[in-house]
Parts: sequence; structure tokens; C-alpha cells
Amino acid sequence: MAELFYDADADLSIIQGRKVAVIGYGSQGHAHALSLRDSGVDVRVGLHEGSKSKAKAEEQGLRVVTPAEAAAEADVIMILVPDPIQGKVYEESIKDNLKDGDALFFGHGFNIRFGFIKPPAGVDVCMVAPKGPGHLVRRQYEEGRGVPCIVAVEQDATDKAFALALSYAKGIGGTRAGVIKTTFTEETETDLFGEQAVLCGGASALVKAGFETLVEAGYQPEIAYFECLHELKLIVDLMYEGGLEKMRWSISETAEWGDYVTGPRIITDNTKAEMKKVLGEIQDGTFANNWMKEYEAGLPEYNKYKKADEDHLLETTGKELRKLMSWVDEEA
Ligand code: NDP
Ligand code: MG
Ligand code: MG
Repeated sequence: MAELFYDADADLSIIQGRKVAVIGYGSQGHAHALSLRDSGVDVRVGLHEGSKSKAKAEEQGLRVVTPAEAAAEADVIMILVPDPIQGKVYEESIKDNLKDGDALFFGHGFNIRFGFIKPPAGVDVCMVAPKGPGHLVRRQYEEGRGVPCIVAVEQDATDKAFALALSYAKGIGGTRAGVIKTTFTEETETDLFGEQAVLCGGASALVKAGFETLVEAGYQPEIAYFECLHELKLIVDLMYEGGLEKMRWSISETAEWGDYVTGPRIITDNTKAEMKKVLGEIQDGTFANNWMKEYEAGLPEYNKYKKADEDHLLETTGKELRKLMSWVDEEA
């Protein structure tokens, strides 16, 4: 069973006694910087030349310096820029500003797990990863609650890294909800697998295949959109609230029977065998290396896939139909 930690297990004064640099001010960066500041922590934000969020961070009362200045001033450096550029930011701005006893923090284990960042031995390497988008992390903190976090220590140079990580998690409200201990390896591999096989890759491929099947059989795209995409939210909300049991309690007996007999014909043993292959390619670094190569080449394939889906009938149909539903907020 997972080990859980709450407010009483974490000592906020540890992080209050450090100087924290938050590099990046996007989804996670703004939430961490503002909530740490409100928890009485000495925070500066490190942003690159021409940053779009610099003005916002300053408006919100934070001091903004360059990533290198932030790393030099601070003894806890949290890297919250996009994963594919973290290696470059580390090489250019952080590496030469690390001293023994400093701590390098991450919100996701990708660069450490696959060796794109190799910190020196004298530095603590920790992860505090909220299990929710940054805007929820910040809103929950302001409301006196928190989003659960997972916390890991990859390198414990000071023998105090875990207490430091828990203290940081407390500073962003994570221990109010509960913190689960993990490792960089477990977090990175399960995160990549989940988003590829189930949440993003699996779900969008399932929706597209269902939609295409109905449209190719001559049904109206608008009807197919409602059945295969729109209603998915209702089902997922029920699963989120009460697992498969609550979803099955809420749907009709006919739908439940179809769930039992047809689900396994769609997600078959072959699908699971492919999932195992996908997991293998995550574990052996194939996925990470291919993705970094694609990123460095300027995203040629990525842009092709993106364009193809933008033009898909599912998407053009949905764009029109969502205009009929005033409660569906495109910006949300
Ligand atoms: P975002 O894309 O939202 O934010 C990126 C930030 O990095 C922006 O402020 C951007 O600047 C800045 N940036 C871009 N390039 C540079 C640079 N060269 N130097 C300094 N800053 C730069 O990132 P996320 O918050 O989504 O992700 C950050 C980390 O958190 C990742 O490791 C991610 O895996 C992890 N994470 C993300 C979650 C999420 O919900 N999004 C959930 C859990 C973990 P600009 O001001 O120009 O926009
Ligand atoms: Mg992810
Ligand atoms: Mg129906």
C-alpha cells in the first residue's frame, strides 16, 4: 500500500528557511510560486528573455529575474518549464549555479528518469508533482484546501531531502489533501503510459474509431458526435465520482449489458498485448528518445498529426454543435 503524508507529517519551517527559485510561470509555475509566497517562503521566479508571463508574475507581486540569476540566488530550484526544454535550460542557466547542499526540484520525472539532466552528486534531487493542473492547485490552496501530490527523492545528498520535499508540498497545499511517496521511475513511467494508452491516446482513438464507424455506415455526423464524444463526459464524471460501480448504477440495464459483452470485444487481448509493448518502449527509453528527436527536429510529424485531426469530420462537426450548447465553454 502507498505511504501517505499529511500536514502534521510536514514541517513548513524547512522550506521557509530556504531560498526558492521557480523557473517558469505557466500552469504549474504560477501555482507553486504564488502559494509558496503565501506560505511565507522566499520566492523568486526565473523567466527567459521575452517571456509572455513576466508581466503577470510581476503584477501578482513576485520578483522576476533570469533563470540563471534565480538559480544563483536560490538553494532550492524548481524547474517548471516544458519537459523537452528542461535539459537546455539546465545546461544554460542552472548547472553552473548549483552548490553542494542545494536542491533541484521537478514537477515530473522525465528528464531525470531518461538522463537528459544529470545533476552533480552534492545536490538533492526531489519531485513534488501535484495530481492536477496548476490552476486547480492554486485555487484549492486559496480556498484552504489542496490537490494531492506525489513526492519522490532521486538523490539524497543531505540526508534531509524527503523532509524538504514534504515541506515544499505543504507550502503549495499538497499535504492538506495528502501526499503519496513514489520514485522518479514510477511517476515517469506510469504518467507516460497513462497519457498514451488510456487518457489521451487511447481515449481519442476510441472516440474517433466509434465516430468513423457510425458515419461510414451512413448515420449523421452530428448524431455520431453526440454518441461517441459528447456523452463520454457524463460517463467519465460518474466513474470519477464512484468508479465503474456508480457509472453502471446510473446507466440503463441495456447499456450495462452492452458494457459487459461488448467492451472486451473492443479492448481485446491484442490491445493489452500492444499496451505491454507501449510500456516496454517507455521503460527502455525508446519513447523518450524518439520524442526528444522529434522535438529537436522542429516537430515535423507532430504538426502533421495535429493538422490531420484538426481537419477530421469529428472536429469540424463538434465545432458547430458546441455553438448550440451555451454551457459548454470552449475557453475553459
Ligand atoms: P507550461 O507550458 O504551462 O509553462 C511553461 C513556462 O515555462 C512558461 O512560463 C514559459 O514562459 C516558460 N518557459 C518557456 N521556455 C523557457 C525558457 N527557455 N526559460 C525559462 N522559462 C521558459 O508548463 P507546465 O506548467 O504545464 O509544466 C511544467 C512542468 O510541470 C513539467 O515538468 C510538467 O510535466 C509538470 N506538470 C504539469 C502539470 C500540468 O498540469 N500542466 C501537472 C503536473 C506536472 P512564457 O512566460 O513565455 O510562457
Ligand atoms: Mg504527463
Ligand atoms: Mg445512448
